[in-house]
Amino acid sequence: MHRLLVRSFCTATNIAKKESVVVIGTGWAGYKFLQDISADKYDITIISPRNHFVFTPLLASTSVGTLEFRSISEPIRMLGKKEEYYEAFAKDIDTEKKTVFCESALNNNTFNVPYDKLIIASGAVSNTFNTPGVYEHAFFLKELADARKIRQRIIDCFEIASEPGLSLEDKKAVLHFAVVGGGPTGVELSAEIHDFIRYDMTKLYPHLMGIPKLTVYDVAEKILGSFDSKLGEYATKKFKRDGTEVKTGTKIKEIQKDKLILADNSEIRVGMVVWATGLGPNEFTKKLHFAKDKSQRLLTDGLLRVFNEKREPFNDIYALGDCATVENYNLPQTAQVAQQKGYYLAKAFNKHSISPNYFPSPFVYRHRGAMAYIGDWNALIDSPTHFKGTGRFAWVIWRSSYLTMTVSWRNKILIPAYWFMTWAFGRDTSRF
Ligand SMILES: Cc1cc2nc3c(=O)[nH]c(=O)nc-3n(C[C@H](O)[C@H](O)[C@H](O)COP(=O)(O)OP(=O)(O)OC[C@H]3O[C@@H](n4cnc5c(N)ncnc54)[C@H](O)[C@@H]3O)c2cc1C
Repeated sequence: MHRLLVRSFCTATNIAKKESVVVIGTGWAGYKFLQDISADKYDITIISPRNHFVFTPLLASTSVGTLEFRSISEPIRMLGKKEEYYEAFAKDIDTEKKTVFCESALNNNTFNVPYDKLIIASGAVSNTFNTPGVYEHAFFLKELADARKIRQRIIDCFEIASEPGLSLEDKKAVLHFAVVGGGPTGVELSAEIHDFIRYDMTKLYPHLMGIPKLTVYDVAEKILGSFDSKLGEYATKKFKRDGTEVKTGTKIKEIQKDKLILADNSEIRVGMVVWATGLGPNEFTKKLHFAKDKSQRLLTDGLLRVFNEKREPFNDIYALGDCATVENYNLPQTAQVAQQKGYYLAKAFNKHSISPNYFPSPFVYRHRGAMAYIGDWNALIDSPTHFKGTGRFAWVIWRSSYLTMTVSWRNKILIPAYWFMTWAFGRDTSRF
């Protein structure tokens, strides 16, 4: 009798086999979905070349050592969802066979991953607008590896400028740091570079005092165009007061080694250029034969289901984050949007697994405002209410909000510890 019961229980369990959910990407959208999806109800497989999540709002801080790299990353293997993880690139999808074709990020191995439900959250790449020389000579700021390269390059530039035999002109050239893009990423990076030079490098390299220069270039007429115009003006004035040049209405025609070529053909010598000008599709989403908007983002319906080329939604493929947009509901490519979509979809999946007839209402975005660090313990707050904050008070809110949003307790401890260490001992300039 007992055996009979066990056998019938096992059979029931087999019948109620969990659906497999495959998630492509471990950024804001994929990670939030993974945090909130119930592992009791779904078998989860993750495909991403990046084995960690990056808390991007604090990435600029790591590029000069205000924070250390590991304090803003969350390892995927520590998710605790009994998940399968493959450190690989998704290369293509066979919607008939319901499989993702993958290529290892570590070797040449290729393999297929079957899915019942597929979540595409593979993000976007920096858009170079086909400007010649950007990939060859500019730095980007999307990943921790990028932040490390920027930090190393700034330190290298100061060391090169300290070598004997360089003319003043050569020193000025190598210590000219250019940031292309006056959006929040470009502005925050410029603010961090300014702090690094002002509070650390000028003390460590007193013989180079007065030589380093920082310039922000933007083709638009003003920086921080997505913020309230008064906040953009406040940031511009502050940058100018600090000696950071803001060159708006300026198009970069080409980047050559150690040189920027402007649209009027003038040449500007530089030690480092960081390209931070908006987003474009990555190779994977470019390749997919699904419906797309004019920026090549995957088009979805309000339930985040991907449309095929005939604009009919798949019932088993979803897309969210920077790689996707909801039809007739254009939202910015931000962590806020990506995270809210991840939360929405996980909640819908969890409810659906309990009551199969559950049909969610379409996704609605709730804007919680925007913030930007502008240097010297100053920040901007552009809230969806009429509150607009600047200065030290805004900086306290900026830091507190991001500390609250940080995912793990480990990082909630590490981040303030590094903030304190930077304040007490300065930023670490070791190069390795
Ligand atoms: C420096 C910086 C600061 C920012 N600050 C803010 C901010 O303060 N507030 C805000 O709202 N937004 C901010 N953003 C924007 C925000 O980070 C993005 O909108 C957000 O990361 C988008 O999330 P996502 O999951 O779509 O993509 P991502 O976070 O870019 O993640 C994409 C993931 O997909 C993986 N992937 C890529 N290709 C493949 C493939 N072929 N197969 C499998 N996996 C793949 C990647 O490795 C990555 O894990 C900032 C961005 C940057 C770069």
